Amino acid sequence: MADFELVAPATPEEAIASLRTGPPGAVAVLGGGTDLLFDLEEGRSAPERVVSLRRLPWRTLEWNGNALTIGSTLPLRTLENDPLLRARIPGLHSAVRAVGSVALRQRATLGGNLGRSAPASDLVPMLLALDAEVLLLGPAGERRLTVDGFVQGSRRTALGPAELIRAVRIPEARPSAYHWQRVRPFHDISHMAVAVAFSPSARAWRVAVAGFPPRPLRVPEAEAALGSARPDADAVHRAAEEIARRAPIVADHRASEEYRRQLVRPLLERAVDATVRGGR
Ligand SMILES: Cc1cc2nc3c(=O)[nH]c(=O)nc-3n(C[C@H](O)[C@H](O)[C@H](O)COP(=O)(O)OP(=O)(O)OC[C@H]3O[C@@H](n4cnc5c(N)ncnc54)[C@H](O)[C@@H]3O)c2cc1C
Repeated sequence: MADFELVAPATPEEAIASLRTGPPGAVAVLGGGTDLLFDLEEGRSAPERVVSLRRLPWRTLEWNGNALTIGSTLPLRTLENDPLLRARIPGLHSAVRAVGSVALRQRATLGGNLGRSAPASDLVPMLLALDAEVLLLGPAGERRLTVDGFVQGSRRTALGPAELIRAVRIPEARPSAYHWQRVRPFHDISHMAVAVAFSPSARAWRVAVAGFPPRPLRVPEAEAALGSARPDADAVHRAAEEIARRAPIVADHRASEEYRRQLVRPLLERAVDATVRGGR
């Protein structure tokens, strides 16, 4: 690992200022470090400065009525232990618990999961199904993007120069569920995952899939096929067919295309059934 300067600003303004020096790649942002430390060790990232976010006042979890705002540096384990999250957004609770091991979740953050933007992220598909927004802070102030607009591909996001993810806002608590398939739960990442939520205000389903490159994505045709709040078996079958038809499912070194396609229907059936019964 090459030498670098480590700074830990105490305020968001200082953090933004400390990101504004040097050419692209010269400065790296450190959340929980569960991804970044590998990148540093393996030379994928060789910054001159690492800006740790650990002192920023962003380890927050704020319910405002039915809406939830999660600070970007809150450890996932703290999020997982929130009883309201478990009761009110069960799909997000399951997705958080799907991320690695307890030890990993003690350090890993939501900001880091979005910043890494992995095709097999467990959190991005659930945030898509919840119509979540990413709140960004940079030299020009704050801006908001949908998660769909923020995540662009593997390790590619809409984050601008010297910008930070400050928080994620979920506009309403929804019955929801997250189901995934992988070989070894704590060590592997998902080969295929389905996130499902039902919006009480829009009376509409949201369905997102993940696990294969380039990125997690929503499948609006599957959402329309599910239709009513209590879809019957035919509707779920049609929705699974829409996913298989529309989602760009491919093979990679972790799973074949055929295997992934076979997983779509059982994962969707379980997720819809759980959502109709209140979630999980
Ligand atoms: C053994 C192992 C198992 C894993 N299993 C899973 C899994 O099952 N599911 C899953 O989804 N992920 C998994 N991961 C990936 C990783 O743990 C998660 O993506 C985690 O949420 C990253 O959070 P972090 O705070 O540690 O990120 P960091 O490593 O600190 O940062 C990751 C990236 O995001 C950037 N970043 C961090 N915070 C911010 C911010 N606030 N603003 C802007 N950019 C920021 C960093 O610069 C870096 O590029 C695993 C990783 C390991 C090592």
